Amino acid sequence: MGAASRRFANAALVLESELDPPALLAALKRTEREFGRRRGQRWGDRVLDLDIVLWSGGAWRTKALTIPHKAFAQRRFVLDPACIIAPDWRTPLHGLTLAHTQARLTRPRPLPS
Ligand code: ADP
Ligand code: MG
Repeated sequence: MGAASRRFANAALVLESELDPPALLAALKRTEREFGRRRGQRWGDRVLDLDIVLWSGGAWRTKALTIPHKAFAQRRFVLDPACIIAPDWRTPLHGLTLAHTQARLTRPRPLPS
């Protein structure tokens, strides 16, 4: 996305955790920082971006954390790997499965009302 000049590898996983969403986000940010340091790069040139795309508990919205992730439905690099492992997962926004959301991105259609 945007002006990045490098190429990135993208992956998705289903994670089972006792942590609530804010605690999981804090853990992901710690992991991002550890990777940044280990590779000896400046923080601006991050080597890892860990996002929470969906949550089995539905939606979550605070200043620091929005689930579903705000941009996931527009990002093939998120939807493509996510669809491989969880095509039938329904998003709480409009009830579409990931597979449907991916199809809409490839062939845009109006949302059902
Ligand atoms: P993006 O992941 O959209 O490319 P960033 O990784 O730079 O952008 O995200 C910046 C901030 O977005 C994070 O510090 C975090 O507080 C916030 N954020 C909001 N919702 C989420 C989410 N679902 N997963 C990860 N970060 C999120
Ligand atoms: Mg992120």
